[in-house]
Amino acid sequence: MTQDFTTTEMRDARYVMHPLTDARANLQSGSLIIDRGEGIHVYDLAGNRYIEAMAGLWSVGLGFSEPRLVEAATRQMARLPYYHPFGQKGHGPMVDLAERLVTMAPVPMSKAFFTNSGSEANDTVIKMLWYRANALGQTRRKKIISRHRAYHGITVAAGSLTGIPANHTAFDLPLPGFLHLTAPHYRRNARPGESEEDFATRLAQELEDLILREGPETIAAFFGEPVMGAGGVLVPPRTYWQKIQAVLARHDILLVADEVICGFGRTGRMFGCETYDIRPDVMVLSKQLSSSYLPISAILLNERVFEPIADQTHAIGTFGHGFTGGGHPVAAAVAIETLRIIQERGLVAHAAEVGAWMQDRLAGLAGHPLVDEVRGVGLIAAVELTPARVAGDGAWPPGALGRRAVLHLQQAGVISRAMGDALAFCPPMIIDRDGVDAIVAALRIALDACLKEMAR
Ligand code: PMP
Repeated sequence: MTQDFTTTEMRDARYVMHPLTDARANLQSGSLIIDRGEGIHVYDLAGNRYIEAMAGLWSVGLGFSEPRLVEAATRQMARLPYYHPFGQKGHGPMVDLAERLVTMAPVPMSKAFFTNSGSEANDTVIKMLWYRANALGQTRRKKIISRHRAYHGITVAAGSLTGIPANHTAFDLPLPGFLHLTAPHYRRNARPGESEEDFATRLAQELEDLILREGPETIAAFFGEPVMGAGGVLVPPRTYWQKIQAVLARHDILLVADEVICGFGRTGRMFGCETYDIRPDVMVLSKQLSSSYLPISAILLNERVFEPIADQTHAIGTFGHGFTGGGHPVAAAVAIETLRIIQERGLVAHAAEVGAWMQDRLAGLAGHPLVDEVRGVGLIAAVELTPARVAGDGAWPPGALGRRAVLHLQQAGVISRAMGDALAFCPPMIIDRDGVDAIVAALRIALDACLKEMAR
């Protein structure tokens, strides 16, 4: 931004510590302050308009100005602004939402448990699995398997599940007992000459070797995002999920699908589990569940997980875990309305259709000298950049080109996010083809601006 800092930006620098931010850099310049939203757009304080091509944090499915969500929140706020689910209490919105989620799940699920964020939900699942193992007398069954470049959140346990160095370095994470496998990124991790199917076979073998080495009786579960999001939008190689599930079934190990990004249409089906034929024991839902208008997350668990836990709570009189805001009635009311709107407007089919358009348009950038790989499914994609062809190997440190490109893209009126040198695109699901075309046109401008800089 070239204009002088507004008072708000200066106060931001003075008073706010930001997540996922260089705090010293923010002291210098403050942050881009977003003031209002309309459809797929947000506006900063100076009135500049941006397409929010990340839907906030992969989450504002219905765009930034859906009046029905405001009305649903207002109605519930006036009727019952707060109640909780502790100690055998409840309220209508939570029951309605639980019923809706359990009945729309792509595999038989038994119960919904409510939390406020993806991290809290994943932490809760880990504790449920430990509690279940103890209930079954399997006290060694506590280890959790996930993957490098996975993102499952940042609390102490969910952050351990996450497989991204930036979320571990200087935090002394991961905790012991969290095991990470090779990321299913074919282009980067396949061996020369290895087909996608062979790569998937090797990763499934790696899982089986790990299970046998550790002892199947020590493994509580495998956690996975159907498509990895924050790790760089890694679309699994063909046959990956089928082969991973076969190994888990052979050793009777539970599968947790983290649908926090994929859920509610993002991959072109209602759930990522449907896109990849995944049959999980537990599903973790958030983000588009309420279009992020209010924080809410939900865990769906099947009978296999719920029943032993239920027995144990009966034996000791309680399940000693829960959050003050879990299943908040206003957030639950907004979530119910969000799901109604997704259904009424056919937004899942819309995401599939516009998503195919977006994948096709982005694939058209593949010949650009700075583009290394374009990948994605439905309305989620990444364009991985490389400075190597233009500037030579090692001329730019990893991530530097990604950061430059995001800045140029912002100047061209589109908000994206760099994950290393990969730019993510995950626009609100209400976007149309014109919106997609505007993103791709801005991306071309941004890439050419980077090229020009490199030529200097
Ligand atoms: N799981 C996945 C797949 C996510 O993408 C995220 C957030 N990006 C989380 C969990 C954590 O969610 P939260 O930020 O709400 O804690």
